[in-house]
Amino acid sequence: MNNKNNLIELDGSHGEGGGQILRTALALSMCTGMPLRIERIRARRPKPGLMRQHLTCVLAAQEVCGATVVGAELGSQALEFRPGRVHAGDYRFAVGTAGSCTLVLQTVLPPLMLADAPSRLHLSGGTHNPMAPPFHFLQRSFAPLIRRAGAGLDLTLRRHGFFPAGGGEIEALITPAEGGLRPFDLLERGAPLDAFAEVIAPALPRGVAERELEALARLTGWDASQLRTLPARQNEGPGNALMITLAHEHLTEVFVAFGERGLAAEDVARMAFAELRSYQSSAGAAGEHLADQLALPLALAVAGSGRPAAFTCTELTEHSRTNFSVIERFLDVRFDSRLEVSRAGNAWRVDVLPGSA
Ligand code: ATP
Repeated sequence: MNNKNNLIELDGSHGEGGGQILRTALALSMCTGMPLRIERIRARRPKPGLMRQHLTCVLAAQEVCGATVVGAELGSQALEFRPGRVHAGDYRFAVGTAGSCTLVLQTVLPPLMLADAPSRLHLSGGTHNPMAPPFHFLQRSFAPLIRRAGAGLDLTLRRHGFFPAGGGEIEALITPAEGGLRPFDLLERGAPLDAFAEVIAPALPRGVAERELEALARLTGWDASQLRTLPARQNEGPGNALMITLAHEHLTEVFVAFGERGLAAEDVARMAFAELRSYQSSAGAAGEHLADQLALPLALAVAGSGRPAAFTCTELTEHSRTNFSVIERFLDVRFDSRLEVSRAGNAWRVDVLPGSA
């Protein structure tokens, strides 16, 4: 790892210029002990600075490691974060709005999976938000890969939380990796094992879920056993998510489309189907979001062990590239990516290399 006393100075408007720069930097500041100053936070967004979700991430990080923090206010575009020692424990983090609580979890997960004891987290806010990992994605796609790296991540959904009401609740049990995180390769999907679609639609007329599943069945040709409606309490809504899960031997992917007022059920099905088709047209193992989220835990495993890791993905977004460059500021690792063209579909291969390699 790099020198602990180095102050890492980041420009939050760099690259994709969103909240990920902040969350990755907070996580790695805690993991490495390196203090952080970040300016122009989310400068490329219509409402720049810390929104409620980002502020909750800062406060959660502060609590987990007793950091000294300057600039932790709503709307703040500059932050200084001086981490202390990371403490495993029982924590409750509430976003207080429908802002995504899964992103709060991903901010504190890296240091807690390197801590010296397990932690239990209770998170509240949005659990199924556009532009954030939905709970089911975390549980089925992301958590198994964290376990493959040697740490434990067990997730329970207590209550759904949709925009605008929020009020969702998640519990997470994090068990640190004994002997440190292990790098691994995720180059192929492996054999297909299962494919199904699910609708969550609390406080909406029953017909919405039925129409979405019927429309999706027409597009995919799937039979009734692959089309499900998940139970949700009426007071968890209104909200609507149509999720597609594809399980393969080496990973599971979850695609989601959100319904909203004025959007026809058939359009929601078309949006979910478009995600599925785009994944199926590539040979990459991880979808674009999983690629984004895999980078940090894999980089920690590579930096800690001195051994390389690699994955393939369907797309390499500006979001991922920005994330890679933030990670490289903190850890002695290098991301090497190249497009691989094949008859099975194009894919990006990303090698995560120890700094000395
Ligand atoms: P802003 O861009 O407004 O600052 P933000 O802080 O909410 O937004 P981003 O920086 O856009 O967040 O990061 C969102 C994260 O959510 C990324 O890691 C992205 O991969 C993930 N994500 C977005 N949509 C999905 C999805 N459908 N499934 C899984 N993960 C998703």
